[in-house]
Amino acid sequence: MSIQKLLITGGAGFIGSHVVRLFVNKYPERTIINLDKLTYAGNLENLKDVEGKPNYRFVKGDILDNAFLVDLFKEHAIEGVIHLAAESHVDRSLHNPAEFAHTNIVGTLNLLQVAQAAWKGATGKRRFYHISTDEVYGTADQGEFFTEETPLDPRSPYSASKASSDHFVSAYHHSFGLPTLISRCSNNYGPFHFPEKLIPLMIHNILNSKPLPVYGKGENIRDWLFVEDHARAIEAIFEKGKIGEVYNIGGNNEWKNIDLVNLLCRILDKKLGREDGTSAKLITFVTDRPGHDLRYAIDASKLISETGWRPSVTFEEGLDQTVDWYLNNPEWLQHVTSGDYLKYYSEMYGKR
Ligand code: NAD
Repeated sequence: MSIQKLLITGGAGFIGSHVVRLFVNKYPERTIINLDKLTYAGNLENLKDVEGKPNYRFVKGDILDNAFLVDLFKEHAIEGVIHLAAESHVDRSLHNPAEFAHTNIVGTLNLLQVAQAAWKGATGKRRFYHISTDEVYGTADQGEFFTEETPLDPRSPYSASKASSDHFVSAYHHSFGLPTLISRCSNNYGPFHFPEKLIPLMIHNILNSKPLPVYGKGENIRDWLFVEDHARAIEAIFEKGKIGEVYNIGGNNEWKNIDLVNLLCRILDKKLGREDGTSAKLITFVTDRPGHDLRYAIDASKLISETGWRPSVTFEEGLDQTVDWYLNNPEWLQHVTSGDYLKYYSEMYGKR
């Protein structure tokens, strides 16, 4: 029998909200509990369309709160966990590494402890699935692709905290037999993405004719995957992945940051009826981020051969849908870019 009571942590965030939506809509017989602290990155507006569905519950809470988690597992008889709650922004990790260690390492350890205790002696199927990132592998050389065997070599406080949490998950499998899964995905893009990350930041600034800050010379290379395809990969791994295994998830879609920003400028010039080249004039090169990994590149062949998963959209289609979503949801963008966002933005990029 498949898992009926599923806890998704960080479900009000960018990727989490897409995972919650997929499971709530596709599995009406399952109860989906979304646990989220609602930090600056958590936003219940991301889930308006699933609110009120009979198989969905939202619980506000902190993965650092052990007693709260123990009660939650007991009250809802949780059988499976998909763990996405995290501090997720590299730039913020450079300013406050300790917060990343608390949430990403201690928070994950807390969840592991509670799940291990709650599931001790259980007879049915149980799964603890930890969502990680390709950034734990460090930087990839030209022509190199990260496989699941690539040694971890994190370079930022964010990736160090994620790598550490990966090790704890693995340790709970080996030491205590917890039925764990880990996946490491490349950069996501799509609707509901908070505009501190590259693609929504550029869309927001192009719309507002503000400078487009690009680190260094924009030479850094990232592999991009549409967020709904990441959510489908998470579903495939949760259902079909082998316990104790790690799976890489990627789009086989590498872009230099500067090329991507220029592409977004061209797409938006066209959609906004601006003369070609107007938005590109806003590009402003800013001092590079310290320890900025040059290239991430993922080999996702294990996931593809074991589960049959494949991306469902091309980059052009996904980017087009994403830009349209931002153009059609100005109030979402307006809500998340008022208040604390303005303070953060002026600290990062000055009062531009
Ligand atoms: P996000 O920042 O949009 O969302 C994180 C969510 O976690 C927010 O809703 C926040 O409120 C919640 N949260 C933070 N601290 C919490 C706590 N102590 N207790 C409960 N909830 C808490 O992040 P995202 O981009 O959706 O990423 C989700 C996960 O996927 C993260 O683990 C991240 O490392 C991983 N990941 C992200 C990407 C990407 O491109 N964004 C790529 C690969 C992996």
